[in-house]
Amino acid sequence: MWSLRAWRRQRLLARHPVSPEQWAAVRQHLPILDGLDAAEQQRLRERAVLFLQHKHLSALPGLELDADARLLLAVQAELPLLHLADLNWYQGFHEIVLYPDDFVSPQRHRDASGVVHEWDAAHSGEAWLQGPVILAWPGVQASGQWDGYNLVIHELAHKLDMLNGDANGLPPLHSNMRVATWASVMQSAFDLLNAELDAHPEAETGIDPYAAENPAEFFAVTSEYFFSAPDLLAEAYPAVYAQLQLFYRQDPLARLRQLQASDPDYQARTEESSIATNG
Ligand code: ZN
Repeated sequence: MWSLRAWRRQRLLARHPVSPEQWAAVRQHLPILDGLDAAEQQRLRERAVLFLQHKHLSALPGLELDADARLLLAVQAELPLLHLADLNWYQGFHEIVLYPDDFVSPQRHRDASGVVHEWDAAHSGEAWLQGPVILAWPGVQASGQWDGYNLVIHELAHKLDMLNGDANGLPPLHSNMRVATWASVMQSAFDLLNAELDAHPEAETGIDPYAAENPAEFFAVTSEYFFSAPDLLAEAYPAVYAQLQLFYRQDPLARLRQLQASDPDYQARTEESSIATNG
């Protein structure tokens, strides 16, 4: 059947080809794509091209983005959606603002006695409800390794969470998932992490303690780990890993284990190369 949408899509892809050299250059900064098969990489590449046609990347003064930099961001943005139906998951915003460095944004917090505290905090990313995503470029550059840090996936997970209203840690679930199960699994893990930090504020937690801030951050941080340190997430909170596996319809832990099975030094090697390339 002839489809206008498919035709437009093919035309956009034909007009904005990614050369094998450009793909190889970007790919080399993204060990978290290792182990994806050829069809998955092809789909990711096409969706990244379409992402760049649909979102406006605004670089602030002091930052120049070349084609490789734009693709580096877009590929990571599309990784979480790789096995989701081809719907408009990143709807409701059009702009990604890129800062040359961490930025300061005014914070406000009302404590239990009703006093509002305000302070300035340095941030590397923000996602506004019905507004833009803001990313500091050094954070984007530091993303893509198997090290539990991915600013792009973190901020865009907030956008998935916001698809059904406020950021509250509950994105729209698929029909084979149950809200009650999701809520109880996420809440128990969140409570466990908070109890651990209440007992020992300096505790070496299984995942970044920032996840204990609120349920929205818990979803964003665990999504970040799901794609960039699935072994640590599955070890700390196996049930959370299982829920995210149902939601994203991917199994990065199996992929990582496969890579490690074929090369025992796999992870150590990618960490060395990340230091070398970021240096
Ligand atoms: Zn966040």
